[in-house]
Amino acid sequence: MTATIAFDNSYARLPGSLFRPVLPTPVEAPRLIRVNEGLARELGIDPAALTADLAVGNALPDGSAPLAQAYAGHQFGHFVPQLGDGRAILLGEVVDRLGRRRDIQLKGAGPTPFSRRGDGRAALGPVLREYLVSEAMHAQGIPTTRALMAATTGEKVYREAALPGAVLTRVAASHIRVGTFQFFAVRQDRDSLDALVAHVIDRHYPAIAGAENRALALLDRVMEAQAALVARWVQTGFIHGVMNTDNMSVSGETIDYGPCAFMDAYYPETVFSSIDEYGRYAYANQPGIAQWNLARFAETLLGLLDEDRGRAIATATARIEAFPALYARHWVAGFRRKIGLTSEEDGDAALIQALLDVMQQARADFTLTFRRLSLGETPPELGGWPDLWRQRLARDPQGPEQRLALMRSVNPAYVPRNHLVEAMIAAAVESQDFGPFAEMLHVLSTPYEEQPGAEAYAMPPIAPDPAYRTFCGT
Ligand code: AMP
Ligand code: MG
Repeated sequence: MTATIAFDNSYARLPGSLFRPVLPTPVEAPRLIRVNEGLARELGIDPAALTADLAVGNALPDGSAPLAQAYAGHQFGHFVPQLGDGRAILLGEVVDRLGRRRDIQLKGAGPTPFSRRGDGRAALGPVLREYLVSEAMHAQGIPTTRALMAATTGEKVYREAALPGAVLTRVAASHIRVGTFQFFAVRQDRDSLDALVAHVIDRHYPAIAGAENRALALLDRVMEAQAALVARWVQTGFIHGVMNTDNMSVSGETIDYGPCAFMDAYYPETVFSSIDEYGRYAYANQPGIAQWNLARFAETLLGLLDEDRGRAIATATARIEAFPALYARHWVAGFRRKIGLTSEEDGDAALIQALLDVMQQARADFTLTFRRLSLGETPPELGGWPDLWRQRLARDPQGPEQRLALMRSVNPAYVPRNHLVEAMIAAAVESQDFGPFAEMLHVLSTPYEEQPGAEAYAMPPIAPDPAYRTFCGT
C-alpha cells in the first residue's frame, strides 16, 4: 500500500489525435462525501490519501496525465461526429492488485475542449445515483464501472434549477466506447483507428492478439461481451436509459449511468428516461439496441476486416445477424439459473417465457417474484406456472436445498428501487443528509443476503408510479 498512486498512462501515450490534454478547473469548497475504501485498496491506493482536493481535481496526484478523450456517437439514432469527454477528465491508469489496468476519471471536474455549450459540471443527485447504482451492479456481479469517491464542490450548477455541484471519481476497465471508433472511422483516420484497435486488443482482449483477422476477432469479442452484459441487465430488471453508441463500452462494462432505473412491476415496455420520448431504450428493446450499436461498431471496422469492401460488408453483416442467437444463449442460461435449473432442455426458454408472461399479466414485482421463488415461496399471482416449473424441476439433478441456495445467489433481495433512490437523493440535496445514501449503499453491497432490518429495501413502492421519470442529469 502506498500513499501515492502508481499511474501508468497508456492512453496518454497513444497518438495525440485520440485526446486533448486538459486540467480540472478548481472549485470553491470541496467536501468529501464518500471514499470507497475497498476499491481504493484494490487499486493499491491508501484510502486515507484520498482527500477532498483530489476528489474534485483541486489537487492532482503525482504521475497523472489529465486528458479528455475524443469520441463521436449515435444519440437516439442520430450521428454526432464529435462528442468527446465534455465533463469528464481521465487522470490516468493504474494496474490493480490483480494485474488489471483500470482508468481513474473525474466526472464533473470542469470544461474540456469537448464541452460544447456544457459547463463541464455534474449535479449532486446524478453523482449519488451513479455511485450507488454502479456499486449495486458490481455487488450483483454485473460488469460495470465503479465509484472510487464522491465530493461536493461547494458551487452551484445551473440546470432547470440551481443545484449543488459534485464530482464523481469513476474507475473503469477503460472508457473506450463504440463512439471512440466512430470518431476516427468517420474522419477516415486509419492511423488513429489502427492505434485504437491495437490498444483495445492489448488491453481488453489480449487472447486475440495473434488472430489471423484481428478486427473480426475484436468484433466477435465485443459482441460476446455485450450479449452477456445486456442479458445480465434484463435478468435484474435494469434499464440503462441512454444506450447511445457513445455510452457503450467496448470492454463490456455498464457505463454512463444517467436516467437509469430498475423496474418494479414487470412490464417489458417500461421506459423511465424523460428524454426517451419514443421508448427507444425501453427495457425490452435493449438487446435489439445492443445489436444496432454493434452494427455501428462493425461499420467502423469495415476497412480492417477485408481489403474487399463487399466481402467486408458480407462478413460483418453475417456476424451482426447472428447476434440474436448469441444473446438468446445468454438469456436462457441466466434465466435457467434464476429458476434453479442446472440441466438444459429444449423447452426451458418457453417455460421461462411463460413465467414472464404471467408476471406481466399480474404486474408482478420483478425482483420480489424471483426472490420469493428462491425462498421456497409460491407467489399466488403466478397461477398455474409453479406446477409446470415443478414438473421440470423433477428432471433436474439438484436437490431442493441446493437449488434454493443457487437461486438465492442469483436473485437479489435488494436492488436500487426508484422510490428509495429518489428519497436518498432528496435527503442529500435538500437537507445535506447523506445518511440514507450510506445506509442504502451498505444494504446494496450484499444484495443476495437477507438482512434483518432492511425489509423496506426489499419491498416495491406502496403505490407504483407509472409516470415515474428519471432525468438525464447533465
Ligand atoms: P451523456 O448524455 O452524459 O452520455 O453525454 C453526452 C455528451 O454530452 C458527452 O459528450 C458529454 O461529455 C457531454 N456532456 C454532458 N453533460 C455535459 C456538461 N454538463 N458539460 C459539458 N458536456 C457535457
Ligand atoms: Mg455518455
